[in-house]
Amino acid sequence: MTRADPFTPEESYYECLECGSRTLTEDHIGSCPACGGEVRNIGVPRE
Ligand SMILES: [Zn+2]
Repeated sequence: MTRADPFTPEESYYECLECGSRTLTEDHIGSCPACGGEVRNIGVPRE
């Protein structure tokens, strides 16, 4: 079971517009950690 901790930030995917790599992070990032390119928030992963 996953704990429902109200202080746990949501993770979301960011996809780099430059190299296409995806980053799963709890933070709001403004650039790709791999190449420094612009990233786009593509949402929260769901199964
Ligand atoms: Zn990149």
